[in-house]
Amino acid sequence: MSNIRHNWTKEEIIAIYNKPMMELLYEAATIHRLHHDPNTVQVSTLLSIKTGGCPEDCGYCPQAARYHTDIEGNDLMSVSQVKAQALRAKSSGSSRVCMGAAWRNVKDGPEFDQVLEMVRTINKLDMEVCCTLGMVTENQAQRLAEAGLYAYNHNLDSSEEYYKEVISTRGYEDRLETIDNVRKTNVTVCSGGIIGMGESVEDRAGMLVALATLNPQPESVPINALVAVDGTPLENEKPVEIWEMIRMVATTRIVMPETQVRLSAGRTNMSREGQAMCFFAGANSIFAGDKLLTTPNPDVNEDMKMFEMLGLNPQKPFTKKVQPKTVEAKDSQYEALGEKPKWSRPDHKIDRNEEAKEKKKAAVLEKKQ
Ligand code: SF4
Repeated sequence: MSNIRHNWTKEEIIAIYNKPMMELLYEAATIHRLHHDPNTVQVSTLLSIKTGGCPEDCGYCPQAARYHTDIEGNDLMSVSQVKAQALRAKSSGSSRVCMGAAWRNVKDGPEFDQVLEMVRTINKLDMEVCCTLGMVTENQAQRLAEAGLYAYNHNLDSSEEYYKEVISTRGYEDRLETIDNVRKTNVTVCSGGIIGMGESVEDRAGMLVALATLNPQPESVPINALVAVDGTPLENEKPVEIWEMIRMVATTRIVMPETQVRLSAGRTNMSREGQAMCFFAGANSIFAGDKLLTTPNPDVNEDMKMFEMLGLNPQKPFTKKVQPKTVEAKDSQYEALGEKPKWSRPDHKIDRNEEAKEKKKAAVLEKKQ
């Protein structure tokens, strides 16, 4: 019988998070061993297939068009470019490719068709394919599933309450609805968040409640430490302490025992010792490659040296779930519906987001003069 609980409360999760460190580590490591091989870590490669120019206002993101950052934007990559990068990722030990596009939501049309072809291409390389493309409808999720998508990433970012302090261009309910749309297919769910955005421990626990009470729980939960990028509203946030990261990973492991907990952004600021503690606390996935969408990430050779030193083995693809079948576009049973769903747009004012937007306007003006 499964011992997965879906009725966690915020108070219970805060109590776990605040346990004495040695007790927390012991409990998390014990649960980890019951559900996973502690010497195996999944390695994923994140590819930014369309970079920058995003209409959203996520306070942590250098890809938002409204903030003044030095991101170089790129149009959607070609299928052959993606295939070449996937092959490179495979040869350096990655079992999964996660493709990210800086979109608010998926729109039916040639660009989405191109992404579907990328999914088919990577699945045929016998690698797990994940996409993070913004909000999706059920029909779009079905089309991704049919192309052979293994996972869809859609982060909750923080608690519902703190989300409103970071993003004003869409609501938390849109996130949950997209996760629900993905759940109606065979595609697995990847959803997590970011710590270090100025949120409280209550907010961290609130996010974990939102994730752990989903039934089923997400198969994968990325825990990111904010990488504060100049020009974004969160540029002045202090770096996350390793102990906070370890507590967050351990708590996630305890409340979501079967989930793959992924150490995501912010690893460049962590020592090998710190990362080893995170693996001990239940992290069993990392992103490899020198860039995480647009922020720095450790070099893949450095990661492999760390694996060797710690006696860790990269997880083989399709260890947790069988490889999905790819249906070719000509045989698809779904057609593009051209839906125009009413995703929310709360548009409340977030002071620091407004200030960052004004800075960009001033920088553009200055350049013109
Ligand atoms: S996080 Fe995604 S949705 Fe938000 S601004 Fe960045 S690219 Fe756009």
